[in-house]
Amino acid sequence: MERYLPESVTVNQETFRVYLTHDEIQERIRMLGAKISEDYEGKRPIFIGVLNGAYIFLADLMRYVSIPCEVDFLKLSSYGAEKVSSGKVRDLKEVDANIKGRHIILVEDIVDTGLSIHYLYKKLEKFEPASIRVSTLLHKKEATRHDVQLHYTGFEIPNLFVLGYGLDYAQEGRNLAQIYILEGS
Ligand code: 5GP
Repeated sequence: MERYLPESVTVNQETFRVYLTHDEIQERIRMLGAKISEDYEGKRPIFIGVLNGAYIFLADLMRYVSIPCEVDFLKLSSYGAEKVSSGKVRDLKEVDANIKGRHIILVEDIVDTGLSIHYLYKKLEKFEPASIRVSTLLHKKEATRHDVQLHYTGFEIPNLFVLGYGLDYAQEGRNLAQIYILEGS
């Protein structure tokens, strides 16, 4: 079956149009995977995906990586059914792997204010990993308030609400294979 690639979608009675196509996303992730493979040669990194949003990006990213690597997940509280962040972070699931001395690549779907990544970086640092780097598919640079260093960024996007490719709106839209933006924005 073909991938479902509509030009626009309606979720929660709001219409979104394509912003980043399937091909654009795949091509960019292929480049990130190649760069990570080069940078981590001989290091066996562990990818830690931030649930729920990062699971699709992480799954594609890892399949463009050509060196031995591992995966684990953690989960933070989300936006709920809103389009703006509550400004608070809550742990919902911890990492299972022993990450002491490991090379961590923290994988996010999107960095908005930077609060989540800042929080996670500080939290994971306490386990004394060998290194921590961050990969995010999307970065709303204008919205970022916290001091975060992003090493492998897919796309910088404007400060507007997006969905698809793992990102939801009231839990819908994660299955879309492209990134969509609110129409009229
Ligand atoms: P931050 O902590 O950087 O402000 O926000 C990060 C989290 O907010 C992301 O992992 C994602 O769950 C959510 N988020 C931020 N911007 C958007 C957006 O435009 N669309 C969706 N669906 N989620 C977003």
